[in-house]
Amino acid sequence: MATTTVSMTTVLEPLPINALRKRPRKTETAAPSGKRWRIRVGERAKNIRNPIREIMDTVSGKENPAKKLLSLAQGDPTSYPHLRPSTAMVDALQTAVGSGHFNGYQPSQGSLVCREAVARNFSAPGRPALQSKDVFMTFGCSEALSHCIAALAAPGSNMLLPRPGFPLYSVLCEYHGVEVRYYDLLPDCGWQCDIGGIAKLVDENTCALLLNNPSNPCGAVFTREHLVAVLSTAEELGLPVIADEVYADMSFSRPFVACAAATASIPILSVCALSKRWLAPGWRVGWIAVHDADGALAAAGVPETLLKLCQVSLGPAAPIQGAVPEIFSAAPSGCEWHTDILTALEASAQCCMRRCRSIPGLEVASEAQGAMYMMVRLKPNALDLGTDDVLLASKLLEEESVAILPGQCFAAPGFFRVVFAAPEKVLEEAWDRIETFCRRHSLKAS
Ligand SMILES: *Cc1c(COP(=O)(O)O)cnc(C)c1O
Repeated sequence: MATTTVSMTTVLEPLPINALRKRPRKTETAAPSGKRWRIRVGERAKNIRNPIREIMDTVSGKENPAKKLLSLAQGDPTSYPHLRPSTAMVDALQTAVGSGHFNGYQPSQGSLVCREAVARNFSAPGRPALQSKDVFMTFGCSEALSHCIAALAAPGSNMLLPRPGFPLYSVLCEYHGVEVRYYDLLPDCGWQCDIGGIAKLVDENTCALLLNNPSNPCGAVFTREHLVAVLSTAEELGLPVIADEVYADMSFSRPFVACAAATASIPILSVCALSKRWLAPGWRVGWIAVHDADGALAAAGVPETLLKLCQVSLGPAAPIQGAVPEIFSAAPSGCEWHTDILTALEASAQCCMRRCRSIPGLEVASEAQGAMYMMVRLKPNALDLGTDDVLLASKLLEEESVAILPGQCFAAPGFFRVVFAAPEKVLEEAWDRIETFCRRHSLKAS
């Protein structure tokens, strides 16, 4: 009715174009010249809120000019020169570009040879082998996560996310209209999932359980037993799992077990990328592997929906897709390049944990076992800044020019995250400064 009335008015009393122009309208924006343009931004895009950016804007740009900035904040493994993609990977990419075979559009879900390579390398023991149709190539793991969340985002749904957890999960859930419900990772139990808490969060609108293993920001690697326990809870609840396995095979203390390898039948969307384990985040290649032994995801139309989502962006750059089969065979898990990286990361993690343990006011809640992160807990009643992680991050930068991320970026106040991908020499210097800082701010005379 209302719509009809408005359009009738418009038809009966057309406003002269000048009158329209002079009246300020909600649909217009005034340029600095005063001229009005019909320019506005989309609601969904405008409402994107990334907690890291908001928190970091209050912290950043304030380092001590007398000290060189040392960053333990950036989750980019290539920030320092000792971690680089292998030469075999770079050669594979150059060969693919030079071949001239990869200048055209590829199928939206990715080129066949590329998907076949992912299927071969990411099939899970105890499950039907993945086929090329079960693989969807994406712009990094970020787009893979976005597609998985979008595909399951039925109206009114909610998703279970880890806390502490990677902030992009909640950004994507909000963007796709999915309510966020956090389950806890237990700081004193190896950052394992609070399994008892999971069941309490679930209702008929819960659309998935998101697991991140090895984990950012905790550096935890789940044992097979723990994975089996978490996944059998998901099975009892009838929940599919989104497994963020971008740190697959980046474990130095125990073998990495993929979610799909820990259970035979739970529907799993496993996401991964060349970004971390292959040290090439700038290449922007990731993928979704659909493990659907029961056929439940297919019955619900999930693979079809993933394909539609892939048809929007048409997938990652063709030459990199073309290089993927060679990248997998030239840099397999356990090759010298890969084990050297793990050795370096483990040494870095050990260095960080050793230093952290001898600093007043700080403690390692649970040891880092993989990926390239650890969480440090602020002890209560130990520092003059209390357990305020945002204040600590900002003062540490201001006084010592050391950048870390406050736990609040990961929904974990009272902690901060350290990236241990820097070489040991840099780490030692950063920890020297963190130690000086903590002794200066210690409540007990030291
Ligand atoms: C880095 C990261 C991603 C995103 O990876 P890209 O391939 O760079 O998009 C996803 N999940 C986690 C846990 C990460 O740390």
